[in-house]
Amino acid sequence: MKLFDLTGRVAVVTGGNAGIGFGIAQGLTEAGAAIAIAGRRADRNAEAVKALAALGASAVAVEADVEDEASCRALIAQAVEQLGRLDILVNNAGTTIRKQPQDYTLAEWQRVIDVNLTGAFVCAQAAHPHMVRAGGGKIINIGSMLSIFGASFAVAYAASKGGIVQMTKAIACAWAKDNIQVNAILPGWIDTDLTRSARQALPGLNERVLARTPAGHWGSPADFCGIAVFLSSAASGFVTGTAIPVDGGYSSQI
Ligand code: NDP
Repeated sequence: MKLFDLTGRVAVVTGGNAGIGFGIAQGLTEAGAAIAIAGRRADRNAEAVKALAALGASAVAVEADVEDEASCRALIAQAVEQLGRLDILVNNAGTTIRKQPQDYTLAEWQRVIDVNLTGAFVCAQAAHPHMVRAGGGKIINIGSMLSIFGASFAVAYAASKGGIVQMTKAIACAWAKDNIQVNAILPGWIDTDLTRSARQALPGLNERVLARTPAGHWGSPADFCGIAVFLSSAASGFVTGTAIPVDGGYSSQI
């Protein structure tokens, strides 16, 4: 359907070489977009680009660490240089350090905030002039259930993901006049490397997730294709500043 067509559009997906980011990259390429996959590990970036190319997509890899301001700015510049324009930015790269608040060092706190929140801000800032030049754009920021809820083992992660929602609203207000729509997706529990390590570290987590999620199962990266295409396309032209849970009902159930 034309409303959802991304032919001729260019997207940057941070953390696009694995998990939810790769699921989103697949969705965007299936809708016709060209993609720059950004991550720190060159081998994983190359594998993701190969897999997307096998689907017939135009994809390039950019090695980038979103913890670093210069790397974020270079990422956007390289994507535009290689693909010619920028229409869609997906701020998906994320990390956590599982510890009680009293045990956090300031460096650990700063690291999680820098990757999850500051990196997304810098990438958005760097993308802005290119989207203005293109006549508009779409920014999708990945939050979490910890944008809404707390958890004893995730103080910096929760602060960063709560911040993602408020940052999304503020940028949406500022750049609406530039025809740039900015929205957040809040994933529930999704089966990826990140949560596989959590399942090993936290006994009983798997059972708690299954019992607490109305859908009765973990989500998969493929569950993000549809929402990503919607928020990247003309179909969401009047949708901005929102935070949409993709969580199998997790945040709707007390
Ligand atoms: P994964 O651990 O599977 O993938 C993380 C991705 O981020 C990788 O591609 C990794 O690539 C990249 N990445 C990590 N740190 C950096 C960095 N400093 N610079 C650039 N890229 C980086 O995670 P998920 O797919 O599970 O998570 C993706 C997003 O979704 C995150 O923001 C996460 O917080 C969020 N989320 C996930 C949930 C889940 O249940 N899985 C639930 C709620 C939110 P590389 O290592 O090569 O840099």
